[in-house]
Amino acid sequence: MRTLPFTKEKLEEITQKWPTPFHIYDAAAIRRNAERLKKAFAWNAGFREYFAVKAAPNPYLMKLLKEFDFGSDCSSMAELELAERVGNTGEAIMFTSNDTPAEEFRRAWELGAIINFDDITHWDYFLSSCDGFENFNSDLPGRVFCCRYNPGPLKGGNAIIGKPEEAKYGFTREQLFDGYAKMKAAGVTRFGLHTMVASNELNADYIIDTAKILFELAGEIHEKVGIDFEFINIGGGIGIPYKPGDKAMSLETVGDGIKRAYEELVDAKGLKPIKLYMECGRSITGPYGYLVSRVRHIKSTYRLYAGLDACMSNLMRPALYGAYHEIVVPGKGNSDVTKVYDVTGSLCENNDKFAIQRELPVLERGDLVVLCDAGAHGHAMGFQYNGKLRSAELLLEEDGSVREIRRAETLDDYFATLDFGGL
Ligand SMILES: *Cc1c(COP(=O)(O)O)cnc(C)c1O
Repeated sequence: MRTLPFTKEKLEEITQKWPTPFHIYDAAAIRRNAERLKKAFAWNAGFREYFAVKAAPNPYLMKLLKEFDFGSDCSSMAELELAERVGNTGEAIMFTSNDTPAEEFRRAWELGAIINFDDITHWDYFLSSCDGFENFNSDLPGRVFCCRYNPGPLKGGNAIIGKPEEAKYGFTREQLFDGYAKMKAAGVTRFGLHTMVASNELNADYIIDTAKILFELAGEIHEKVGIDFEFINIGGGIGIPYKPGDKAMSLETVGDGIKRAYEELVDAKGLKPIKLYMECGRSITGPYGYLVSRVRHIKSTYRLYAGLDACMSNLMRPALYGAYHEIVVPGKGNSDVTKVYDVTGSLCENNDKFAIQRELPVLERGDLVVLCDAGAHGHAMGFQYNGKLRSAELLLEEDGSVREIRRAETLDDYFATLDFGGL
């Protein structure tokens, strides 16, 4: 059973002010985790994590992570704007987008972001997007550019991200050499290399192997194209133990494994020092966010259903990927009287189920129910289908106080884009 950072009484007190459902994040735990990540990679001068904004696009969380000098990994106009507003500009932004619109390239350039290209054709598209910008040519050599590598069949995939050769992202191996040569010829002097081939990966070797592939490749591109790499970005994708039997990836094991690979493939090969970057989302905030809800109805038909006041618009992962999220019933945690439930929301889709045939303490109307590991790709995936509204986000501070970091949507928000005037 999970230990929660709040008691049932504390939750009841919080719900006096903020009715369920809401997401609540544990600031102390996020800070401890950020500290651990930095420590595991302290051997690498210049190591930096760029938090994948899409995982939890909330300014308070981004600001909290900025305390640890985490940058922002952005892939849309709104995410660029969020980064800027929390004070991450220039090389504190990694712009890793795909199918990128011209205005986003322009904005990323204006912000001084590291621009990570997804395709060989995007260099020319980028140049034409920024056509006419003052100082473009004189600023260009000072800016950092990167290409996203897709290793194709060289690397096996996993369930969420799929097989690399079927993934829409990145350059082929051959295209990378052409891409860097083209940028070099255009006057670029500062380069990075990126890949992102994992998602929710719990095997440390998979991440270490990815780093090895990139170190080797950096050496090869250095030789053939005659450029040095300032950084290698191994992407995000470190998993978290959603299921009771899962084991958390040891950051220390990953850090040590990549250190050994670095010594062998960068130091020993005489390459210039390379900074290691990451752009994790899930492993940074995922385990430290909770969706808090209440049982609204108990229904007994062919199965037993516990209907919550949250639905898949608050946490879509179970419906989208069949993902498992642990459910804790505060105050009934140690109950040995259990029943098997389908835990549902109120959306008119039968896949609106947080859990299917899950053994839980006997539930009653009004019980508080906590869905664990909802701190990344949770609230962020919310939507308004079926007239459902996105819930509030709260931050549990280290001193036990609670702060609202996003208000719940209201019907006015829903109606804000509609027009009844011309009816
Ligand atoms: C989604 C995404 C991430 C973050 O992935 P996690 O699984 O949350 O670590 C990082 N980089 C890119 C390019 C992404 O699309």
